[in-house]
Amino acid sequence: MATRPDIAAETGSRFLISDLCKMLESYLDEDQVQDVYRAYLFGAEAHEGQRRVSGEPYIYHPIAAARILAELRLDHKTIVAAILHDVIEDTPTAKEQIADSFGTEVAELVDGVSKLTQIEFETQAEAQAENFRKMILAMVRDIRVILVKLADRLHNMRTLGVMPPDKRRRIARETLDIYAPIANRLGINALRVELEDLGFAALYPLRYKVLEKAVLASRGHRKEVLNKIEAAIKRRVGQEELQGRILSREKHLYSLYKKIRDKTLSFEETYDVYAFRIVVDEIDTCYRALGIMHNLFKPVPGKFKDYIAIPKANGYQSLHSILFGPYGVPIEVQIRTEEMDKIAESGVAAHWVYKGSEENIDQMNAGAREWLRELLEMQTHAGDSLEFLENVKLDLFPDAVYVFTPAGEIMKLQHGATVIDFAYAVHTDVGNTCIASRVDRQLVPLRTVLRNGQTVEIVTAVGAHPSPAWLSFVVSAKARSNIRHYQKNLKREEAVELGRRMLERALGVFETSADKVPGKRVRALLDEYHLKTEEDLLVEIGLGRRSSVLVAQALSPSGYGGSDAENNGTAMQPLVIKGSEGMVTRFSKCCRPIPGDPVVGVITGGRGMMIHTQACRNIADDKYPAENCIDVQWEPGLDEEFPVEISVIVEEHRGVLARVATIIGDTDSNIENVGIEERDGLTNNLLFRLTVHNRQHLARVMRRVRSLPSVIKISRTKG
Ligand code: MN
Repeated sequence: MATRPDIAAETGSRFLISDLCKMLESYLDEDQVQDVYRAYLFGAEAHEGQRRVSGEPYIYHPIAAARILAELRLDHKTIVAAILHDVIEDTPTAKEQIADSFGTEVAELVDGVSKLTQIEFETQAEAQAENFRKMILAMVRDIRVILVKLADRLHNMRTLGVMPPDKRRRIARETLDIYAPIANRLGINALRVELEDLGFAALYPLRYKVLEKAVLASRGHRKEVLNKIEAAIKRRVGQEELQGRILSREKHLYSLYKKIRDKTLSFEETYDVYAFRIVVDEIDTCYRALGIMHNLFKPVPGKFKDYIAIPKANGYQSLHSILFGPYGVPIEVQIRTEEMDKIAESGVAAHWVYKGSEENIDQMNAGAREWLRELLEMQTHAGDSLEFLENVKLDLFPDAVYVFTPAGEIMKLQHGATVIDFAYAVHTDVGNTCIASRVDRQLVPLRTVLRNGQTVEIVTAVGAHPSPAWLSFVVSAKARSNIRHYQKNLKREEAVELGRRMLERALGVFETSADKVPGKRVRALLDEYHLKTEEDLLVEIGLGRRSSVLVAQALSPSGYGGSDAENNGTAMQPLVIKGSEGMVTRFSKCCRPIPGDPVVGVITGGRGMMIHTQACRNIADDKYPAENCIDVQWEPGLDEEFPVEISVIVEEHRGVLARVATIIGDTDSNIENVGIEERDGLTNNLLFRLTVHNRQHLARVMRRVRSLPSVIKISRTKG
């Protein structure tokens, strides 16, 4: 955001308690500021003689944290708690003392923050998960605990440079994994953006620098276009006598990075978007302003979003649209009221803003509470902290789709939600007994991903049960935790029954059935799996510990007695994919997976398993039925070579192909094939199929090739 304060300038000079009090005087009562000052004296005494890793006296850290919250204009109790947030850790009696001097509310806040900080754990993953769980529980009691914790973390991130590298990375990762998403979920944009950029810079310093440089390099040229568009908007808005502010925005680096990483867009495609915000006085004016904008520049069809009528889960409200600008550049506009703009920056925190306007905020706060209540429910179902964290992470990304029940009731689901997610959103029992579904009156498979505006009807059957296979496609935490919960509590007989049905269905894929499998073959497989009885095997399948498809494959003729050629193939096959359990694996030519790519195994009717990348179009388009898709992983430490295709766009001149080829050869990679596509007489596209060991190797090759002056662009091609 262009409006972001300059971090370096802030940390350069020391911020004193007197500066803080001056800030607070602008919006708090005199005796409230007095309380803050008393808290400072209390804290300064408690931290007497302590220093931060940077060498500076400890008390400056809590003052800095309090300042962050004062910038959000939070109430004095939160500010007092921020100043005292590290006090309890040092003196065991501090809680009662704080209660005596500042009241129980402040004491509880400080205690809540300390509890989040104090816990130590065996493993990193466990620590993170448990921290997260505590944080959620603390939030349910009082969201201000999290606000203080976020401010604490933000200041620690601002001063992260003094830490040793491994600690820096760990803290940065935790910030990106947990704190920034929480800030986002609570709608506190101001904190989120800074947490993300600082986390990104500390975790991937090189990528950060490269991106920062690229942004700086393109800024000059942007400026011109930006000014032209802004002038056009201002002129038109003026003609229509509309009152409002017009701001141009720049995406922050981490959001650029995420867009490039997730959508495989190039930097140019991502950055060449011109973003404006129009802030007006009231809601009616928003829609008028939208009309004016759509009249000034043509809107891109299907890109208009009305978050005023349907706010985002975190309370965010705004109109969004994308327009065709001059020179064909896309323009993103956000239109909102001053009130909405304030809430977009401070989110849930707005509730405690001194003398805030009540109605909107209460509504948003109710939304946040509802979310927390759902989390709490989820956590009572989850087996351990790790599982809970996995569930909650799914919930932290608030893009939503809106669909209708047959009765016309609107349901909000997260992006990518399937029919099963919908069923669980309606009611746990509906999810548990779901057997079929109609979307817009058409029967569809249960893994169907829902889109905005569809009407969804669920068919249930008495005695039906959730299938473990659903776990491979559901996206909502609620569906996931319920399916797992069901699986875990399955009685043995039920697991046998479920396993039998799943195996029977899977055997169908291989055009056989249970009664056609010779007993000898079953016996051999049980020995191989170290199981005693057939029932044990069915239980394993029913509980989702073993894939029904893999067991069926092993039991089907192609799995044990196919042609000799195929068996030889199996024997020769190096074991490169975990979870394929001796199946013939082949690598799909559409996406050419290499070690390091997240992969999926697709069972192809008796002919083994085809490995695709998870990002492959064919997987994304749901070309294969869910029960044929299996989660697989690369064996670690592979040394094989894998083919991969890259496209290199070069300036056309003699010898350039030879030079690129030499560089590729130098990086220990073999070229299997080369093609040349002429483009516009000035540039050529060189298409190489080469072999690499893994993604790091490929990255090395691409980096070297990119360093050639005549190379304009290089990318991995997929399909
Ligand atoms: Mn602290």
